Amino acid sequence: MPILEIEGLNVCYRPERGVRISAVRDLDISLERGEFVGIVGESGSGKSTLGFAITRMLRPPAVIESGAVKFKGTNILELTGSELRNQRRGGLALVLQSGMNALNPVRSISKQLGDVLKAHSQKGEHWGRSEVRARGGELLSMVELDSEVLDRYPHELSGGMRQRVAIALALSLEPELVVFDEPTTALDVIVQASVMETIKSLQRSRGFTAILISHDMSVVLDATDRTLVMYAGRVVEDQPSKTVASAGIHHPYTEALMKCYADPRADKVELQDIGGTPPDLSIEVAGCSFAPRCSFASKVCFLETPSLVRSELIQVACHVRLPVSPMAKEVKVVRN
Ligand code: ATP
Ligand code: MG
Repeated sequence: MPILEIEGLNVCYRPERGVRISAVRDLDISLERGEFVGIVGESGSGKSTLGFAITRMLRPPAVIESGAVKFKGTNILELTGSELRNQRRGGLALVLQSGMNALNPVRSISKQLGDVLKAHSQKGEHWGRSEVRARGGELLSMVELDSEVLDRYPHELSGGMRQRVAIALALSLEPELVVFDEPTTALDVIVQASVMETIKSLQRSRGFTAILISHDMSVVLDATDRTLVMYAGRVVEDQPSKTVASAGIHHPYTEALMKCYADPRADKVELQDIGGTPPDLSIEVAGCSFAPRCSFASKVCFLETPSLVRSELIQVACHVRLPVSPMAKEVKVVRN
């Protein structure tokens, strides 16, 4: 059984003032235990909304309009607050925010860790000062930090150290699924690489299932087993990360994203803009959301929303690249 199954998920934002935004649309995703999956897409494509929905951390004005998020077979969207708290321990995913967000600026690291451990303690467990320090030392060493960090406050730590502490906090309840939302975006390149190495090695050694959300294609391709590309709230491509660079078939949006980010191994780097404007999520448009920016688009692309179609290990939602609709066969197919 997959560890996570998302079925027909629709999430929108309904602010009191302002327009309704449809941020996640008809999403179906399935994750096997131990997989490391990357979710990549431009700003506003719905990545964080999805991460929050998976961990039941969405707050108003977000509304889950329909769908299910099944974690080990249980639809977590139907759990009560206390059932959810019980699931956090040893199980349910935790979102890891970038920067300072995950940490309380006025509490020392050991106090924050104690808060988390106490809030989710199980029968027979006692989290006194010495127990918290012992567990804290263990957790910090997992993220390659010295135990003296326990007595520090977040502002006394560098950005990279703060991110390591945030990872330690996320892992303190031994989750089986961890969502990392832009865990290294706020860091400089060298620190970013070293924090990513830690995440990769922890994922391998501890065996948890992980989702890495990033707008940087090169980070996702380097770290993960499988890459999902999101555009306007939908997954438009899903394929093994190691074949993305060599695969012939891609969603045109994936191709555009690949040209935006440098491959660190390439000799010559020519970065290009995607061009056009990102989609307006407040309006429901017929057809493919990427069509107005797509150089391959034909008539059918403006009329029918393409669904994900599998071709061996690759799934692409594109009329032109993997034609599915009867109409698509009638239109001239353009390939580069
Ligand atoms: P980024 O790469 O910038 O983090 P993202 O892919 O994580 O982007 P989301 O934050 O999920 O995207 O946002 C998806 C859409 O929902 C965007 O159009 C965004 O403006 C909108 N949105 C997000 N949060 C809210 C909110 N609290 N109220 C209204 N709209 C929101
Ligand atoms: Mg985000």
